Amino acid sequence: MKIAILSRNRHLYSTRRLVEEGVNRGHEVKVIDCLHCSMNITSANPQIHYHEEVLEGFDVAIPRIGASVTFYGTAVLRQFEMMGVFPVNESVAISRSRDKLRSLQLLARKGVGMPVTGFANKPDNVPELLKMVGGAPVVIKLLQGTQGIGVVLAETRKAAESVIEAFMGLKADILVQEFIKEAGGADIRCFVIGDKVIAAMKRQGAEGEFRSNLHRGGSASLVRITPAERKTAITAAKAMGLNVAGVDLLRSSRGPLVMEVNSSPGLEGIENATGKNVAGMIVDWIEKNQKPWKTRTKGGRG
Ligand code: ADP
Repeated sequence: MKIAILSRNRHLYSTRRLVEEGVNRGHEVKVIDCLHCSMNITSANPQIHYHEEVLEGFDVAIPRIGASVTFYGTAVLRQFEMMGVFPVNESVAISRSRDKLRSLQLLARKGVGMPVTGFANKPDNVPELLKMVGGAPVVIKLLQGTQGIGVVLAETRKAAESVIEAFMGLKADILVQEFIKEAGGADIRCFVIGDKVIAAMKRQGAEGEFRSNLHRGGSASLVRITPAERKTAITAAKAMGLNVAGVDLLRSSRGPLVMEVNSSPGLEGIENATGKNVAGMIVDWIEKNQKPWKTRTKGGRG
């Protein structure tokens, strides 16, 4: 197969591992920086130009599109789809998963457990918003945040009101969420490929830290997940329409609760924590499932 990896940086661990496993299995693999792609949008013969070259003959596109380039990155991926190239994750599914509000609404519709969450554009009534999620303590999140930045635990009603008002003053979009205390500063990352959880790790926050992000000093270890956790992770990935996904769960007293579904889950943490060849499993899955023109939306042809 001829595989395109849409990634801005060929030196990133995940990109390197996918190239390595693709090449090991005899495939031709090219890393393409989507920001250097230009496209002609015609119904007869959609093309992608990359530097001096016209991209042709690809069977598969593996999107590794960073949050900051979602808009243009998904447009390039959509163009590949319009050329009949099989996307490991479809452009529409990636756009969906990048919108926190839309994601939570989709998960709720499928009956997936999640922390009670409130949104408001301009809450004239902050106390009412807090009451809606069960009152303090609450977690307040900036919608644009990643890696735990902009995730704040407000332990009292007064603290919560101040933080919400401060974020509002900065015109930031936020959500307010029930604090799952019993998770104990840990979460579970389930790595889903197709309809299986192929690896799982527990991330534990540093002492006294409720956020488990590795970037915030958390540590990762191999974990055995329960059948309910497995089922929840698979249902969540399916609800988003993602074939490859990292589903983050909190262990609560009422069962697994989904926090987030990530469409470009990193490989370094999960391969190191579990010792599994996750990149190889992604390529194996592609070999079994790749077909031209196989998308739910058919890149607009359906
Ligand atoms: P980001 O997407 O920036 O990583 P998250 O929403 O994943 O932000 O939150 C960061 C971390 O904070 C999570 O990994 C988890 O450990 C903790 N956390 C987030 N939401 C809650 C919550 N409602 N209850 C308890 N802990 C939470």
